[in-house]
Amino acid sequence: MTERLYDIDAYLSAFEATVTGCRAHGKGYAVLLDRTAFFPEGGGQGGDSGRIGSLPVRDTQEEGGEILHLTDEPCEVGATLSCEIDFSKRFDRMQNHSGEHIVSGLVHRLFGLDNVGFHLGDNETTLDFNGVLDRAQLDRVEALANEAVFANLPILCRYPAEGELAALDYRSKKELSGAVRIVTVEGYDCCACCAPHVSRTGEIGLIKLLDFIHYKGGVRIWLVAGRRALQDYREKYREVSAVSRALSVPQAECAAGVERLLSELEERKASATALSRELAEARVAAMAPNEAGHALCFLSEPDEYVARRIALGGAERVPGVCAVFFPAGNGYRFMIASQHLPLRARAAAIREALSARGGGTDDLLQGSAAADKARIEQYFSRLL
Ligand SMILES: [Zn+2]
Repeated sequence: MTERLYDIDAYLSAFEATVTGCRAHGKGYAVLLDRTAFFPEGGGQGGDSGRIGSLPVRDTQEEGGEILHLTDEPCEVGATLSCEIDFSKRFDRMQNHSGEHIVSGLVHRLFGLDNVGFHLGDNETTLDFNGVLDRAQLDRVEALANEAVFANLPILCRYPAEGELAALDYRSKKELSGAVRIVTVEGYDCCACCAPHVSRTGEIGLIKLLDFIHYKGGVRIWLVAGRRALQDYREKYREVSAVSRALSVPQAECAAGVERLLSELEERKASATALSRELAEARVAAMAPNEAGHALCFLSEPDEYVARRIALGGAERVPGVCAVFFPAGNGYRFMIASQHLPLRARAAAIREALSARGGGTDDLLQGSAAADKARIEQYFSRLL
């Protein structure tokens, strides 16, 4: 049986241990030690990584009461080695996990809801509750949780005797048997949990509740605490500063600034559409057929809507075709319309003459052409 050093001292990062077993496990090996500070995944918290001697440990899992240190290479049984856990990762998890306990304890006390799901990932932490909460309620929980941090209260982890445990009112996700480890933050939470925690609430640092969604009849809340909260603030501050500078508005008014910009954009789009229509109508009104009876028009802007309006409108005014070209990539896109010449029968010849692709109906052909302007002009200067 491995002695669980993390149970007694959550801050122990370096220790000596003797290898009591090593066996193939998955794609690598599982190393067993007589004592360990490596916490195996449990209680929503991931398994520790680190090293045994010089051998990297990528994860720690518990199976059938054994603590397995998962490695890529085998380890000599009987050797006594210096071991070390990745404590910066562990401390980050301890900060977030301890923050979760305070939040879950407060939600339970204030609103009678249970934490029914907890995931402490390396990138995000989620808490699921079996009832709905709104933003104002979450703001209240967040404020009180941070008061617990400011009060720098002790966080106690212990195994109460059976009689004491029976009388204790504690949160638990499942029915527990045997020795139950109880984690207490006086006045805030009392919960069964196997994971290492920080020893005082002050070490958690800021607790921030981010977004929340309705989830499985309750809510899912995203939480950041400690260094992660600092990192999150740093990133968001940088983003808000950039938006504030770009819009020349105070940081506290960024959202209103963006709203204003979006509504201006909508107005400009509407006015651009109106202008496009006017432009199309003006060009149609000025359209005159060439000697071959066709009208040809090159647009400087790639505006499909305007091109179609001009082609169809122009076709009413000429005996031949009205062909409209606008830039696309290295060549042109085109709309060719006619009311008098059935176009489908002419499509293959047009494609060949203009190095074009595309198709359409007897009234309207569209596609893309690789031919240059001079070649296009020459083609439409004669009868089709
Ligand atoms: Zn816990």
